[in-house]
Amino acid sequence: MRYERSSALFRAAYNVLPGGVNSPVRAFQAVGGTPVFVKEAKGAYFIDEDGNRFVDFIASWGPLLFGHAFEPVLEAVIERTRKGTSFGMPTALETELAEKVISMVPNVEKVRFVNSGTEACMSAVRLARGYTGRDKIIKFAGCYHGHADAFLIQAGSGAVTFGSPNSPGVTPGTAKDTLLATYNDLESVETLVSANTGEIAAFILEPVAGNMGCIPPEKGFLEGLRELCTRKGIVLIFDEVMTGFRLAPGGAQEALGIRADIATFGKVLGGGLPVGAFAASREIMRHLAPEGPVYQAGTLSGNPLAMGAGLAMLTAIEKDPEVFTRLEQKTAYLHKGLEKALDSKDVPVQINRFGSMISVHFTDAKVRDFESAAKGNNDYFKTYFHGMLDRGVYLPPSAFESYFLNDALSYEDLDLAIEAASQSMG
Ligand SMILES: *Cc1c(COP(=O)(O)O)cnc(C)c1O
Repeated sequence: MRYERSSALFRAAYNVLPGGVNSPVRAFQAVGGTPVFVKEAKGAYFIDEDGNRFVDFIASWGPLLFGHAFEPVLEAVIERTRKGTSFGMPTALETELAEKVISMVPNVEKVRFVNSGTEACMSAVRLARGYTGRDKIIKFAGCYHGHADAFLIQAGSGAVTFGSPNSPGVTPGTAKDTLLATYNDLESVETLVSANTGEIAAFILEPVAGNMGCIPPEKGFLEGLRELCTRKGIVLIFDEVMTGFRLAPGGAQEALGIRADIATFGKVLGGGLPVGAFAASREIMRHLAPEGPVYQAGTLSGNPLAMGAGLAMLTAIEKDPEVFTRLEQKTAYLHKGLEKALDSKDVPVQINRFGSMISVHFTDAKVRDFESAAKGNNDYFKTYFHGMLDRGVYLPPSAFESYFLNDALSYEDLDLAIEAASQSMG
């Protein structure tokens, strides 16, 4: 494949954007080569600026559950646009989307909309601190919750890819309030809780981790966290930015049957527009301004185009709950195919999957936490990534990212990816 125009566009971008991009992982630094510049997309495919066509396995990093340029979302956005793009005043649409979220997600009674997953998680932690009157939080190595200061402590995906798990600019004062535990290791959490009695406001985690590749929670892990939170008065925050409306209509809380105290959302909720949200019981949410003293605000929060897109997305899910079964079946098919294609090669491979999230790690040992994920061989990953790319299959350009399947993918597309995997690893 030729990437001449992408190459030229990247050089031009590099002149005016740090690293040539507006979000680090897009720059291809972990895999080398030229980032592919997208021209347009429909369904499961996108066309780049050189006219190459790719089967897309990232779906804008998750939001596009039904594929690119999904008609109901397009129509909603176009219709709303004609009526004005932003008001900074309440609209009926916000209530409508909140009611929809509350009807789909278990254990939540009120919602606050924001503009990104980062904002949702940052605000959820502030709320948990305000609610409990405690300062410290526990996060898990390899879990990503956006780029707010408190989370840039072994943050997974982009932050790990670039070797800066602790970013300059995050002060020691901030870092000291974020305690780090090990995913799938309840004991590591119990130790921290005992050493910080009465000081922990919240645990925040991805109920199914997706930012160190896909790592499902092992039996008893989330149950143990839930029990510990209840016993110690700690707020359990499920960061469902990735899993919300992807694993089930009610996200991981529904798929796994575990209750969180606060859930955060983004990605699918916005259907491809910038939307985030955090939601909880009335009892917790009443601490939020203007009902309570915990401050949070946003000029474009509840933006009508974004709310319209979200409403179209959730309505489509509600009308077609079978989408989750189809996605699960397609991902299981891909899982099996990739396993077969790669097992015969002379490379160590672990494939993790949960629902429509899947990732391939080039390592011998089971991948169950950040340490085991980080043992993956990045040279194999690069070969695999570029082999796939040159065969028209677009994967996340980092070994620490999960693929996101979308409903527009056909079994022929999956077969193409499986065949490409086999050829890529020679
Ligand atoms: C993507 C993601 C975020 C950050 O969302 P942005 O919209 O990129 O700010 C937070 N948490 C998880 C689990 C994510 O996958």
